[in-house]
Amino acid sequence: MARAPKQAEYDVLIIGGGINGCGIARELSGRGYQVYLAEMNDLASGTSSWSSKLVHGGLRYLEQYEFKLVREALAERKTLMDMAPHLVRPARFILPHNRQMRPKWLIRLGLSIYDHLDLFGRTRRHRTSDDKSLKGIRTVSFRNDRTGQPLKSEYSTGFEYADCFVDDTRLTIINARAASQQGATIKPRHKVESVKRVGDRWHASIQSEKISCKLVINAAGPWADTVLDNLAVAPAARNIRLVQGSHIIVNALFEHDQPYILQHDDGRIVFAIPYLDKFTLLGTTDTEYSGDPAKAEITSEEQAYILEVVNRYFLRQLTQKDVIASYSGVRPLFNDSNASAQKVTRDYVLNWQKDAENWLNIFGGKLTTYRTLSCEVAEMVTSMLGRTEQAGWHSDAVLPGTPEQTEFAQWEAEFHQTYAFLDPGLRRRLCQHYGADAEQIIGTARSQAELGTDFGGGLTVAEIEFLREHEWAETVSDIIWRRTKLGYVLDASQKQAISAYLKSKS
Ligand SMILES: Cc1cc2nc3c(=O)[nH]c(=O)nc-3n(C[C@H](O)[C@H](O)[C@H](O)COP(=O)(O)OP(=O)(O)OC[C@H]3O[C@@H](n4cnc5c(N)ncnc54)[C@H](O)[C@@H]3O)c2cc1C
Repeated sequence: MARAPKQAEYDVLIIGGGINGCGIARELSGRGYQVYLAEMNDLASGTSSWSSKLVHGGLRYLEQYEFKLVREALAERKTLMDMAPHLVRPARFILPHNRQMRPKWLIRLGLSIYDHLDLFGRTRRHRTSDDKSLKGIRTVSFRNDRTGQPLKSEYSTGFEYADCFVDDTRLTIINARAASQQGATIKPRHKVESVKRVGDRWHASIQSEKISCKLVINAAGPWADTVLDNLAVAPAARNIRLVQGSHIIVNALFEHDQPYILQHDDGRIVFAIPYLDKFTLLGTTDTEYSGDPAKAEITSEEQAYILEVVNRYFLRQLTQKDVIASYSGVRPLFNDSNASAQKVTRDYVLNWQKDAENWLNIFGGKLTTYRTLSCEVAEMVTSMLGRTEQAGWHSDAVLPGTPEQTEFAQWEAEFHQTYAFLDPGLRRRLCQHYGADAEQIIGTARSQAELGTDFGGGLTVAEIEFLREHEWAETVSDIIWRRTKLGYVLDASQKQAISAYLKSKS
């Protein structure tokens, strides 16, 4: 009788290629474990590409007394800025104030706490970028400040504080790249279809592949309960609370580069964030959701809600006609049985599945805390599997694209000089998307034409080939919506040309 082919053996199978799955893959492979990550669609195609794109403490969670979460997240901003300065960039947020809001002294107190909370629990090890960029609050008189110009006259003062903006999708993908460089197997378009405990191992069927592993990590975000249910690991349970959040994109509402945080009567806040040079990103909402997370779409009520908040503050009044695009994502929040969707904890819970040996679930979390979550997961894995022989791993080691020897600002200035032959807009985009890896894309080219056909927005053959080779890109969507956001500027014929190019390569 023919023997069944031997299955590839791993230490850990991670289900889900969002920020948490990819962060955990990086952390575990860095510590010397053999990792297989399976993502059923594209990397970051779930919640991790539909966020508000902030690495932040979450000012409003202070009101919910989530001090531990806010402190951890605030400290993480600095760490992530050092790890990926091209993707995690500080910004000075503006909080406009008027008489109907909480008194000024109370807001100032809240912001002062926010400004100092991260001092406790700093774990910095390596190079420090300019710490000042995240420090200091300021009272702003709008009469003589550029940030007052787009606002209605009833807002005469406001406050300024610091947080960070991040490209959520690219942060996810470079974590996958780092994991892959450390030996992890990363498999987008690979759905985990069945798992079975055989002896002291798990056997998994993943598309056409069969693997075995010692431990499984369920990092399926909003699908975490579905995975448990469908793979018959545990009976249906509601560990996860699905809360939809939507954003809209409009032409730039203001000309400067500072985001606004806008308070509404119901205590919720909406951000107005400068986006991709020519747009403003507005959102988000908090609406209970049921159904397939992949099918979440903005509702007319959510759109009206966002427009109402924004119109209350800005002189330029927006209508539905101004909405260029919208997107919705589903937060996979840990179900702490809180009645209100806004008040459900944003903290994460890691739990060993009852009645299923060596099966770890990730419930909840934020983009901002993915690295601390990954470290905790790795400690739990070590407690089960024991240490590997690998030494010298640092969880806050720089991510791909971060120059190793030079401060990022200096590297960026040199990049612009060296590649002055490229269009300034393209240089800026390459810097912000890829950091030092932009040099790999440009290679030996000494003119823009040498990068090959420009499909629009500066997307050339050289960039597409880099994405195919190093970032698992296969489809037009992979390229124009996740690895770049050029989908917002390319027209139908340009998208068609990219599709034809990809077909010619397959
Ligand atoms: C509107 C909104 C705004 C937000 N804003 C912020 C913010 O500004 N800052 C912040 O820090 N956080 C923010 N968050 C939270 C943050 O985006 C999420 O916590 C985070 O992205 C969740 O990542 P994840 O890896 O757990 O889930 P996901 O990114 O959803 O990844 C899970 C993956 O599992 C895959 N999967 C499912 N089943 C299987 C299977 N059987 N086999 C293989 N793969 C499978 C899915 O395809 C998916 O890609 C926001 C969230 C939302 C919705």
